Amino acid sequence: MQRNNHGVRSIRKTVLILLAVMLLSGSFDPVQRLHAAPLDKLPASLHIQLQNEPGSLPLSIPGVSEPSFQSRETGQQKKKKISRRDATSWVDLQQRYPGTFVIGGPRKERKVALTFDDVPDPRYTSKVLDILARHKVRATFFVVGSRAASYPSIVRRIGREGHVIGNHSYNHAVFSRISLFAFQQQIRNTDAILRPLAGYSPRLIRPPYGEVLPGQIEWMKQNGYIAVNWDVDSVDWRGIDSSTILFNIKKTLQPGSIILQHAGGGIGQDLSGTLEALPKLIKLLRSKGYQMVTLPELLGEPAARSVKP
Ligand SMILES: [Zn+2]
Repeated sequence: MQRNNHGVRSIRKTVLILLAVMLLSGSFDPVQRLHAAPLDKLPASLHIQLQNEPGSLPLSIPGVSEPSFQSRETGQQKKKKISRRDATSWVDLQQRYPGTFVIGGPRKERKVALTFDDVPDPRYTSKVLDILARHKVRATFFVVGSRAASYPSIVRRIGREGHVIGNHSYNHAVFSRISLFAFQQQIRNTDAILRPLAGYSPRLIRPPYGEVLPGQIEWMKQNGYIAVNWDVDSVDWRGIDSSTILFNIKKTLQPGSIILQHAGGGIGQDLSGTLEALPKLIKLLRSKGYQMVTLPELLGEPAARSVKP
């Protein structure tokens, strides 16, 4: 018994040392996994637009020049920042909240989930839906509440065509920078908008930029939500061409992968690469024997939250 415990401890120690080496060498950096470069380089225009939208929450979205999101740092700086972010690293969150904080599905079956954020957007969402329908693929769409209020018919279409609808906040707020109460408002306001459009209370939440705090995940757990990030980042929001998108996806693709793409964006944001890449991606995945499923199918969880009376 004691020897077993000792064995487990030494395995754990080895894993921790390996992780530390990878972190310091830069070969694995959970910070880089976020599609959160500094906000001003991101669907930044989305932020500005959403902030100025009439009827958006009186939430200040802090101007983020958060140094911990910068990817190239000196070893000393990096060490300090990593320890500061320890509590919210994805690896840590997965261990602390199995089944409530998720970045991938079971690795045994050749199934993957396509996910599209920042919808609805009249320029791109319908085109993505057309491509998915043509290829008979079902995906998961993470909807921004304020946008759903502006374009409800697109959200209805997403549901009608068999895709799954998830909650992507009310105005793309950075959850890690707002209070627990403001976070709850983001989720509840969006839920109230999505329920009549989807026909259910979406169980899946995608935190904007993948940023979420342990206390928020705790609340999600108590209220029947699941936070779903990703393990494959297409980085398509940068307006890159389709071959770069496919290259990015292939880099970390594996059975059970959750693939992050966008079917909406801010003013001036160009997702034509996403549209061009999508049929090629579907073909590529099928040629490799992957089945594309919705997140509820991948995770074995219902799309709907059971709402307490
Ligand atoms: Zn987003």
